Amino acid sequence: MRAARRIAEKGCIDAIMSAPTEQNAPKIGLVSLGCPKALVDSERILTTLRAQGYSFSPSYEGADVVIVNTCGFLDSAKAESLDAIGEAISENGKVIVTGCLGNEEEMIRQAHPGVLAVSGPHQYEAVVGAVHEHLPPVPNAFVDLVPEQGLRLTPRHYAYLKISEGCNNRCSFCIIPSIRGDLASRPIASVLYEAERLVKAGVKEIMVISQDTSAYGVDLKYATSPYRGRQIEARFQTLAEELGNLGVWTRMHYVYPYPHVDNVIPLMAEGRILPYLDIPFQHASPQVLKTMRRPANQEKTADRIRKWREVCPDLAIRSTFIVGFPGETEEDFEMLLDWVRETRIDRAGAFPYEPVTGARANDLGLDIVPDELKAERYGRLMEVLQEVSTERLAEKVGRTIDVLVDDVEPEDNRAIARSQWDAPEIDGNVIVDDATGIKPGDMVSVKVVASDEYDLYAVPSDAVQ
Ligand code: SF4
Repeated sequence: MRAARRIAEKGCIDAIMSAPTEQNAPKIGLVSLGCPKALVDSERILTTLRAQGYSFSPSYEGADVVIVNTCGFLDSAKAESLDAIGEAISENGKVIVTGCLGNEEEMIRQAHPGVLAVSGPHQYEAVVGAVHEHLPPVPNAFVDLVPEQGLRLTPRHYAYLKISEGCNNRCSFCIIPSIRGDLASRPIASVLYEAERLVKAGVKEIMVISQDTSAYGVDLKYATSPYRGRQIEARFQTLAEELGNLGVWTRMHYVYPYPHVDNVIPLMAEGRILPYLDIPFQHASPQVLKTMRRPANQEKTADRIRKWREVCPDLAIRSTFIVGFPGETEEDFEMLLDWVRETRIDRAGAFPYEPVTGARANDLGLDIVPDELKAERYGRLMEVLQEVSTERLAEKVGRTIDVLVDDVEPEDNRAIARSQWDAPEIDGNVIVDDATGIKPGDMVSVKVVASDEYDLYAVPSDAVQ
C-alpha cells in the first residue's frame, strides 16, 4: 500500500502505527495522498482511531477497512486519487473515501459505486463515524479507561450535546464569530451516535446546544452521513426527529425562529421532543433588532408564537433580552414590554447592554443609553417577566406531570426536580414533597399543588387520593 508506507516514515505516525494493540483489534489501512494539510488530516484520523482501540495494517490484505484520503487540487491529482480508490477496492473491497476529492462525491460514486462512504476535507468525525458504521470498535481494556460516552461534568442523568461550533450571523453586539469562526456543523451521524452513547450510559435528558441550533447543517449543505444503515441529512428537523426516537427528553437551545422551525413544533405536540424552545429574541422593537442585526428578525414573531401554541399548547418559550442597547428609545422599550406580555414568554433572563470590546455596536454612532436608565429599564422588564412567569406557572396547578429529579433533601423529605418546561441551571424547579424513596435521576409522576414566580410545588401522584 504505497501511501501507507509513505506516512509510516513519519515519526508520529510510526508511533501510532507501532503502538501495542490487542490481538482482536480491528485493522485499518490508510492511503494518504496530497499536500501536508491532507497528511495532518490523516494523522488526526489515525490518532483518533488508535485512541479508540483500532490498529493499522501496512498492507491491503491485512486491513479490515481501507481509508483513502484523496487530493483534488489538479486534474492529475484527481485522476491519481480515483486510481488509488480503484486499487483499494480491487485489493481490499471495503473503502472509505475522504479528503479534497470527497467534495465531488457524485463523481467518485460514478467511478467507484462500491465505496462505503465519502466525506470532504477536515471531516474527521465523518470519517471516524463511517469507520464505526462499517467496522465497529472492539471493547479494549487498555483504551477503555475513558467511558464510551466520554467524561462529563454534568450529573449522570442529563447531558449537553454540542452539534456545531461558530456562527454565520454577525449580531452587532457579539464577538463570538470573530473568536470561534463561521458555523461548522458536526456530521449528523456523529452527533446521533454520541447521543446514543449518552443514553446507553443512563442519560435521560439531552440538551442540544450550539451558537445557532436551527442553522445546523447549512455549512455542510445538509450533507448526508451513514447512520444505522441509512444516509441521513444534517438538518435541524432531521436531527430533532432522530433524537426524538431515542426515548429520552430532548431539549432544544439557541434556536432562531427561521421559517423551518415551524416544522419541529408538531414533533413537540406528539411528545417526541420536549415542548420547549430556547430562543434568544433579545428585543422586540424592529428598529432595535435591525441595529442589533439579529437573524430571523421578523415583525410577525408574535403571530408565529401564537400559531406554534395552537399546534402545541404546552410549548414553553425561554428567551433572553438586552435592555439599553444603543439607540433604544422609551418607545422601543415599551414595545418590548408589550410584546413580552402579548407572547407570554414563559422563562426569560435580561441583561443591561454592555459594550463588549470589538463589537460593532460600539461604532454605530447611536445614542448611548445612560447606565441609570438601563438599570431602571432592566428592573421594569424583570417585573413584567416575573408577572408573566407567575401567571404561566399558575396555569399548571392541578395537572399531573412527569418530572426528572436532580437532587433530594432528605432532611425535608423533598426532591428538587424539573418538568419538561425547565432546563437545568437557567429555569425554575418543581419542588416535590413526600419524596420518600425518590433518588436523583428518577423520572417521577407528580401532581402540581401550588406555584410561585419561578417554581412549581408538587407531590408524587401515587400519594394523591
Ligand atoms: S449573538 Fe448573533 S453573532 Fe453571536 S453567536 Fe448568537 S447569533 Fe451568532
